[in-house]
Amino acid sequence: MKAQNLGSKIRHEFPIFKNNEKKGDGQIKPFVYLDTAVTGQKPQSVIQAMTKYMETDYGSVHRGAYGVSIRSSKMYEDTREKVAKFIGSSVDANQVIFTKGTTESLNIVAHGISELFLDDKSRIVIPTIEHHANLIPWQQAALRKDCELAYLSLEGKQSSKLKINLKEAEQFITKNTKVVAFAHVGNVIGQINPVEELIALAKKVGALVVIDCAQSMSSHDEDLFAMGADAIAFSGHKLYGPTSIGVLAMKKELVDRLPPYLFGGGMISDVNLEQSLWTTGPAKFEAGTQPITEACGLSAAIDWVESKGRTNILNHSSGLASLFLEKLKNIPDIEVFSPQSGKETIVSFRHKKIHAHDMATILDFDNVAMRAGHHCAWPLIRNLGVDALVRCSFGAYSDGDDVEIAIEAIKNSVKRV
Ligand code: PLP
Repeated sequence: MKAQNLGSKIRHEFPIFKNNEKKGDGQIKPFVYLDTAVTGQKPQSVIQAMTKYMETDYGSVHRGAYGVSIRSSKMYEDTREKVAKFIGSSVDANQVIFTKGTTESLNIVAHGISELFLDDKSRIVIPTIEHHANLIPWQQAALRKDCELAYLSLEGKQSSKLKINLKEAEQFITKNTKVVAFAHVGNVIGQINPVEELIALAKKVGALVVIDCAQSMSSHDEDLFAMGADAIAFSGHKLYGPTSIGVLAMKKELVDRLPPYLFGGGMISDVNLEQSLWTTGPAKFEAGTQPITEACGLSAAIDWVESKGRTNILNHSSGLASLFLEKLKNIPDIEVFSPQSGKETIVSFRHKKIHAHDMATILDFDNVAMRAGHHCAWPLIRNLGVDALVRCSFGAYSDGDDVEIAIEAIKNSVKRV
């Protein structure tokens, strides 16, 4: 499918856009959803797959000798295979661990790496601009192991400098660096990080590379493992799939060697009253009843994304973001926080006279949904010298009308305060 007009062509596949809402002024207004960075809306195919699965095949995974359980186990493992292929041709299903989401994935890998590889002489390197999910687990690891956590700053505050300072990365990624962790795409300013350069610096000193792909998995299709990543994490719900399922994919050696994070049923090879032994492969990290219906939804979501094409989704969403940005910049008192490379699908901004939270509330009068706040990235927000930003983010189903309505709503906000 061509990137242009992708949104208008596929919008009918998303039932939520049929529910136009009556707003405070009594008028029925179309739903303008510009918060795909927080979570993606769901196409009918995902909703249907999950409903049909629960109606016909629902059962436990790897715990039953009867029909629905056998079918559920097959679906679950088939989804693992599909996820592996989706990540890249260099990845196989034994590297794919199902989790609750990116946050849990990053906690598992940070905990495991710290237990196995870090001591008081080690250094962890992460950018200051990370989502808390890729910052706090490393902070905790550094505290537990009494090791150093070095933060990479932004080059500067102007648009062209809203990028990770690679000169600093060269200085900071030294031979005691054991892990370099960063997002593929940033969730606040939408920057696409220099993955190749950071991997190269890490590999030079033998450090592990962990990449947070929460924002990139639906629109970027590089095989990060082929490029040298050791672990990646992402969430189903940001991929037009369900909540409560995510993925941690790791190099085979890490799957084999990292200790489990959660303990309980399904992750053991033997248990007695003195000690327990862990099973091997992804199951070692999958204690307890798994997100089974959600795995079915994730499988359908991957099919859906593949049918549209990740590059198409990226070109379409970034094209709309650029259009929005151009119009936004013409509104008085607007300050934009975006690298403005033309490839971002996110535009964060603030109005000098209207607080970001007020702006988001006022936009809702026009049924325009944008997120306002610190976007789970306090250090970045503080570094930018603000206390909150409004974030406008585009997805596959966004269209030109969304841009027009949002821009009008922002202009109206001045009259409404
Ligand atoms: N990392 C990034 C870059 C994100 O944008 C998010 C969510 O917004 C997360 C991690 C956490 O994802 P989840 O809440 O699905 O665990």
